[in-house]
Parts: sequence; C-alpha cells; structure tokens
Amino acid sequence: MQNDRAAGVLVALAAGDALGAGYEFGPPLTDGADVSMKGGGPFGFEPAEWTDDTSMAIPIAEALLEYGAAPAAFDAVVQAWTDWARDAKDVGAQTRTVISAASRAADKDRRTVTAGDFAEAAAEFHGRSGRSAGNGSLMRTAPLALAYLHRDPTDLMTAAVGLSALTHYEYDAGEACGLWCIAIRQAVLTGQLDLRAGLALLETGRADLWRKRIETAERSRPRDFAQNGWVVEALQGAWSAITSTGASPAGPQHLRAALEEAVRGGNDTDTVAAIAGSLLGAVYGFSAVPFEWRRRLHGWPGLRTRDLMILGAELAAGKGKQNYIWPRTGHQDYSGRSRTDALVQHPDDDGVWLGGVGALCRTEELGIDAVVSLCRLGTEDVTGIAPENQATFWLVDSASPESNAAAAHVLNEAAAAVELFRAEGRTVLVHCVRAESRTPSVAALYGARVAGGSALDASKRVLRALPPRQSEPRVPGGARGSGRGRGVDTGLVNEQCQSRPLMYAA
Ligand SMILES: [Mg+2]
Repeated sequence: MQNDRAAGVLVALAAGDALGAGYEFGPPLTDGADVSMKGGGPFGFEPAEWTDDTSMAIPIAEALLEYGAAPAAFDAVVQAWTDWARDAKDVGAQTRTVISAASRAADKDRRTVTAGDFAEAAAEFHGRSGRSAGNGSLMRTAPLALAYLHRDPTDLMTAAVGLSALTHYEYDAGEACGLWCIAIRQAVLTGQLDLRAGLALLETGRADLWRKRIETAERSRPRDFAQNGWVVEALQGAWSAITSTGASPAGPQHLRAALEEAVRGGNDTDTVAAIAGSLLGAVYGFSAVPFEWRRRLHGWPGLRTRDLMILGAELAAGKGKQNYIWPRTGHQDYSGRSRTDALVQHPDDDGVWLGGVGALCRTEELGIDAVVSLCRLGTEDVTGIAPENQATFWLVDSASPESNAAAAHVLNEAAAAVELFRAEGRTVLVHCVRAESRTPSVAALYGARVAGGSALDASKRVLRALPPRQSEPRVPGGARGSGRGRGVDTGLVNEQCQSRPLMYAA
C-alpha cells in the first residue's frame, strides 16, 4: 500500500494539473459543475495534457533519482528547467524572470547554469519587487517528499526551503513547500492526512501564522481564495478543496471530488489542483486516480501516466533507476508459474478474452486492441496496443484489508474499463498471471454489468468457462508462493509468444 501511495503522488499531481489546464484564469464554477480534462485554456493545451506544474516537477524527480540528495541534484534541476523553458507553452512570470537572469549570468562566464545562479537571481528578483511568493515553487515540490521518505523530516523541511529558494526567495514560499512535503511524506508512510505535521519544524511565530492560515482554509472553499497565484492562497485553496470534500466521499472517491472542487475554485485552477493532487495521491494512491483520467494523461517531455508512476515508485524505493527490476524492467518474469497460457472468451461477451499473462502474445492473432492488466508487467510486455488502450489496475491476491487499499473501487474501475473499451467497439483481453483470482473477479463484475443478475452468478459462469484450478500444494507459512516454480513450465512472457493452439477457447 505504501508503494501504491508513493506511485500516486506524481500521477495525481499531473491529473489535477491537466484537469485544471482548460479552466486556468477563469472565474469560479457553480457547485457541481462538470469538470473534465478538456484542454484548451489560455495556453492551448491538448486534452489531458499537463502544464508547467508537472513539467517542472519531473526534472526534480529525475535529478533526485540520479544524484540522491546531493547538491549536484539542484544543479541538474535548474539545467533541465532552463532547457524546458526555451519552448514551454507556459512559464510563470516570476520563474521566467529568474531563469533568464540566471542564464545570462552563466552565459557571461561561459559556463553551465548552476543552482547558485538561480538562488542569486531569485534573491535579486525579491530585492527589486519586495515580493516573491508566487505559487510556482509549491506546485512542483512533491518529488522531494518521496526522496526524503526514509530520512529525518527536519532534513526534508530544509531541502524544501532550499529547492523553493531557487526561484522563490520569500519565506512564505519555502515554508509552504516544507509543510506540504512533510504532509506528503506522512501520508505515504501512514495513509494519514495531516497538514499540521510540519508546523513543529517552524519557528514559533511562523508556526502560529501557518496554523491560522490552515484553520481559515478549513472554514472556506477554494473559491474564497481568489488570490491563488500567491503561494499562501494556493495552499489554502488546495487544502480547502481537500477538507471541504472530505466528509462524505471518504476513500478513493475523495481524490476525484477534491480535485474537481479545486478546479471549480477558478483562477489558477491547474496549480491549485496540482498541489491538491500531490497530497491526495499520497493519501489514496495510484489506484484512486480514475482510469478515465490516467488513460490519456501526457505532457512534457513526452511522458505518460506510467512514466510518472515509475518515477514515484523509484524515488520512494530510494535506489535510483534500475532497469532490471519492476517497474522499469522491460519484461516481467513469470517463468515457472503454471496456467499462464489460460485463455477463454467471456461467457457473456465473446468480444472479451480472459487469460493468463501468456495471452499477451496472442493479441494480434485474436484481433485484441485493448488490454486490461491486473498484474505487474514490464514496459515491453504489451506490444501492438495503443498506450491509451492499455489499462492497468493494481490488485493483490488477498482478502486481507491490509493488502488492498480499495479493492472494491479497483475491481469496479477495472470492470468499467472493460465496458468502456467494448462501448468503443474494441476487442478486450483481461488478464492477470494465471487467470485464477483477479481475472475472474473482474470478469464476474463485468458479466453482471452486461448480462444482468448478480456478480456471484456471473462468477459461476466465468469459472465454468475458465480451465479448472489445478490443485497446488500449499507452501508452509502462507499461500503467497503457491504454484510458483512447479507445474507447466511456461517460461518468460516473450518466450511464450510462439504459435500455440487455442487451448481453452470457449
Ligand atoms: Mg500550470
């Protein structure tokens, strides 16, 4: 569940960002008004495209993965921001001024730009205007919390203030980043939502000030913070979106409700929703981000949902990029598992195939053009299917509530994804590793949706259609290993991709 929550931080940040992009600088919307990833807005974004908020967070995540907490990470961050700003559709005014000034300083000395150049330019900006607390550092700060998951919160506060000061000199900006990062860290570790967790790390006077600001947010709604280009009101807008929607839709639905509410607040909609998203993703996880939003989410530098999931999961694991293990691995190894070649048509809909992981190599032959995956896959295990038609849902084969944060939500989302693909006229493969637990569960829910009747009745039809379960010896001390390393040797997923008879076609 911690992995799910860590993986949710950047995905939900980007989802909030893309959701708000089409409404930026608009007026508040009426209560309950529809909000969608429609794109457009003042900068002409594509539907489901993220904006500067996510684009500035990605270099932070990449640099922290590459260099850890070393000072070299901040140099890499500012160099990546400088490259990004050259062609970016939208760079915040304060950030653009700092990037230009820092680049000029470096150009004059004929060297690459450094974090020091940025911090100096940010301080000069503040000296000229007396104000430098735009919301541009808070919107991008989330990856830092993941990199400091297993470090002292005091170090995280210090790093957040330093990262903020690369472009935003004023105290308010740095402290807002610190408080938000501490809350994200806490949420990923414990699943608890507590924006006050970092107050003890501030000076007494500043802590009192922020406590009052937080209390004000809790009595308000996002639309009450019209000056949300200012970091304080951006934080208050995001927090009020979370707290004002928190009571009734508890659980994963809260994520969606709060992000829609953040966007309805108007003005800097993408940033307020991005800030809220980073914390909501930390609380409810990757699994709580609606598939409808994850499906086409994309943006600079040519990344999609899965890439953000990978960055979040790896930052939290604290081991840098590892090409040989999930989630970055090309091929996930299920060799030695039995039954991976199971493949049948759904008893209620012959446009839906149900299978084990080995079925992935049959998609072309069977005309399958959408895949609903319920197990871990490598980045190259699904071929020939458009990315937006590859749906991934995370389920652990266990009835224990500690294993799946929101099993009912995820199962329903997966069944709804099958229904959506079918409504688009696609032929769908639903698969897990062995089509024994996760696949029939989702298939049963889908069966009840299309054929009526109960999911339990549908599950009987599905189980009759699937090959019988093999009796597998129980592994002493738990069921997790059952079936591993015995039975039919099916080899790696890609090794299975040879012509085989349709063993279990209905
Ligand atoms: Mg933006």
